[in-house]
Amino acid sequence: MEEILAEALAVAAPQRAAGRVADYIPALARVDPDKLGIAFAGADGTVHGAGDCDEPFSIQSISKVFMLALALEKVGVKLWDKVGREPSGDPFNSIVQLEHERGKPRNPLINAGAVVVTDALIGDGPAEAAIDALLALLRGQAGSGNIAVDEEVAASESQTGARNRSLGWFMRSFGNLSNPVEEVLGIYFRQCAVAMSCRQLARAGLFLAFDGRDPVTGRAVCPWHRARRINSVMMLCGHYDNSGEFAFRVGLPGKSGVGGGILAIAPGHGAIAAWSPALNAAGTSAAGAAALEALVERTGWSVFV
Ligand code: GLN
Repeated sequence: MEEILAEALAVAAPQRAAGRVADYIPALARVDPDKLGIAFAGADGTVHGAGDCDEPFSIQSISKVFMLALALEKVGVKLWDKVGREPSGDPFNSIVQLEHERGKPRNPLINAGAVVVTDALIGDGPAEAAIDALLALLRGQAGSGNIAVDEEVAASESQTGARNRSLGWFMRSFGNLSNPVEEVLGIYFRQCAVAMSCRQLARAGLFLAFDGRDPVTGRAVCPWHRARRINSVMMLCGHYDNSGEFAFRVGLPGKSGVGGGILAIAPGHGAIAAWSPALNAAGTSAAGAAALEALVERTGWSVFV
């Protein structure tokens, strides 16, 4: 496996030049665009890695997948009254559909939808408990207590977060946010600023490859039907207006983040995390997607077999 991962990175490496590091969040603009790593967590919990697979990076929108699992656990299917589950075909921070659809975001993986999910997870409790729940889930599943919020990245995003605040206020005007916008956005910025390595991320996402159950401990992180639904949302919405292209090239549910990470789920096989900071126009890691494409070509993994 380590050989396959190293090969995938070698194939993908030239693609680093095809993308650009996110610069609308100043703290992310400082990350070295040459970084490239990948890790695979399999059924026995062993994590194989190659390249910069031990270096923590900002998981950004990949946090939305774990927040979705937590919010569904908390409020159940009622969540779908507030957020849809259709692909948007629009960029991650688009506001245009929100007016037509009366403040109900298309899906939980675009920014507007993720803000609704965060609001639901906060519920009527203290906002900070939502971050505590996220960190507990990630630390527990990855088996590493050192996973934390990079407060510098969170502050940097907050300082430049006018667009995300606009989405929040717009939804609030339609009555689709229960908590104060500033409070919900504060948590949203911090969940996006969680720093993890490819190894930690692959291990943390492993339950999604095994019907919601951690294959090593046997613990059900979520019921099987919820894991399948989260995967289907990742498949159709995980890369915004690039989701079709990712499904076409990789054929696995995946979620990208503007920190350059991608989490992909190979049901029955394991979870893969790739990282390379230079992004394509839709905010998906150019070399990360290429590495995953090379990996599935070699392994034959696909949800379409
Ligand atoms: N924190 C980022 C934002 O809100 C997340 C976007 C992403 O990773 N696609 O803009």
